[in-house]
Amino acid sequence: MTITSPTATTVSTHMVPVSPATGRLRPLGLDEARITDGFWHRRQQANGSATLTHIEHWLEREGWLGNFDRAADSTLTADSRRGREFADSEIYKYLEALAWEIGRRVGDANLDVRFRKIVKRVASAQEHDGYLNTMFGRPDQQPRWSDLEWGHELYNLGHLFQAAVARGRTSGIDGEPLIDVARRAADLVCTVFGAEGDQRVCGHAEIETGLAELGRLLEEPKFIEQAQLFVERRGHHVLQDIEWGRSYFQDEVPIREAGALHGHAVRANYLAAGAVDVAVDARDTGLLRALSQQWKRTVERRTYVTGGQGAHHQDEAFGEDWELPPDRAYSETCAGIASIMFSWRLLLAEGGAQYGDLIERTLFNVVETSPSEDGRSFYYANTLHQRTPGAPADAETISPRAHSSLRAPWFEVSCCPPNTARTFASLAGYLATADADGVQLHQYASAEIVTTLPDGREVGFDVETAYPHHGTIRIRITRSSGAWALSLRVPAWAPSASIEVQPADGSEPIAVTAKPGTHKVDRTHQVGDVITLTLPLAAQFVRPDRRIDAVRGCVVVERGPEVFALESTDLIGTVLQESEFSDLVVDTDSAPRQQHGTVQVHLVDAYSGESAWVPLVRYHDWAERGPSRMRVWMPASTAR
Ligand SMILES: [Zn+2]
Repeated sequence: MTITSPTATTVSTHMVPVSPATGRLRPLGLDEARITDGFWHRRQQANGSATLTHIEHWLEREGWLGNFDRAADSTLTADSRRGREFADSEIYKYLEALAWEIGRRVGDANLDVRFRKIVKRVASAQEHDGYLNTMFGRPDQQPRWSDLEWGHELYNLGHLFQAAVARGRTSGIDGEPLIDVARRAADLVCTVFGAEGDQRVCGHAEIETGLAELGRLLEEPKFIEQAQLFVERRGHHVLQDIEWGRSYFQDEVPIREAGALHGHAVRANYLAAGAVDVAVDARDTGLLRALSQQWKRTVERRTYVTGGQGAHHQDEAFGEDWELPPDRAYSETCAGIASIMFSWRLLLAEGGAQYGDLIERTLFNVVETSPSEDGRSFYYANTLHQRTPGAPADAETISPRAHSSLRAPWFEVSCCPPNTARTFASLAGYLATADADGVQLHQYASAEIVTTLPDGREVGFDVETAYPHHGTIRIRITRSSGAWALSLRVPAWAPSASIEVQPADGSEPIAVTAKPGTHKVDRTHQVGDVITLTLPLAAQFVRPDRRIDAVRGCVVVERGPEVFALESTDLIGTVLQESEFSDLVVDTDSAPRQQHGTVQVHLVDAYSGESAWVPLVRYHDWAERGPSRMRVWMPASTAR
């Protein structure tokens, strides 16, 4: 299988997180799509103003950035190094977030100064042959590449490459020091782990997708070929066996032979994302087919209603099919982000509304759940059932990784906060795509979108919406010439959507109903035409697949893309205030009602018979009002 060499027509000049050489759809970058208002704009503002500063504060305070300074002046020792083996990667993810944010704000000079200062410290720690890691290789440290199972050396470099790609695509590659650092490190990886070299892989996948994107950015096929070697090598027992088995790092079976994602949920999704990168650049249709089948089975059988993945706390891993206990949901924030990376790549390769559906569900109910409203504390794990109220995290103390009672400012294993930061900063890059037909809108947010079709025509539109609080999405054409198709994703939860076209010339509006899937509005669009997509947002009960034992007999309430939860805070002042939380059942003969801007259910105390209408909380907003009990799946009064 040979890699398609990047050419002038395939190398994207846009600010995109992913730029495949082949595929059904071309992603629009931050220079073509901009989020202007509403739900995700608020999150992007909090991310840009509060979260980024918060992360830098903790990276300095914990000494993880200082490791690079001590490496540069040769005073770093095994004892003086701070943080876990993957601490370097948090700096790289932070740099990636900064790079996207600079692109989003179109060259913020202050942010650019911050970015350059950190890059200088990172670059100073790089060794002459390109090696870069603060944990290995110094006289009293373990030798380089001596612990691929747990050492995360290649994982860290994968995040370095993604940071360099973000910088290159938003600010250019010429004379950029981070590009030079990444290129030298990638050259070393190709020398050490090339076809004739060390035949092992990293215990934590991530370098695959980093190498593929760096190769695309720099038009360097050998980096993509190295990614391909890593993808194909894994699964042949190239790593040492461990307590949880080689499945933990996907080294049990080759990726083409796996039936579903398995093992550590973040590793599995990063690997799958990198494997799609390799498959589309190598035109390897067999590998791509295997990956989309694995995606399907994983979503059907191993994914929580929130889009969360990973049921095991012990090894942060997927369970078996149907093993989805709500109170033991690990559902790591990073696994949600990694799942979005996997889904987005499949969407670009194949098209398909199902990928946009999962991305939306995961964004609203996993990624958005992690940060507090102010963007200064985070969930690492995202439980679906909190049985006892937790204690507030101390704002000055570092937390263990998986405390899931309340959000914490920082963790000993702090992969999730900078991962959310880079995702929110680049979010506009996941809204829309283009092909020869026209433009496809996959996610709904107030936005301005302008792009050029392959035939050179410029087309564009503004999106105005209060989604997901309201289901009306108003799209006004701002640029157009001739006929082209605007494709809209109608989510699977919206069986009766409608689309109306109001032509700018005052002629009769055209209205159609639209079924779930992709709906094309194919016409000669005129500037000023308004296309209105209306998605019904009634709150509804959803029942689980009968094979998920842990939630049999329960219901969840969804409204549009948002999952709701019962939180004990909302029982205060009702007749159920003194009820045992576990005695409360939902009267499923009474449909959820919407009143005073809330979604309410009729709750009954199964012990006393008392009942009340109680508002539910959006799952992503839970625990914002202090310690509480919470459950997403609620026992139903009727078993149907
Ligand atoms: Zn994480």
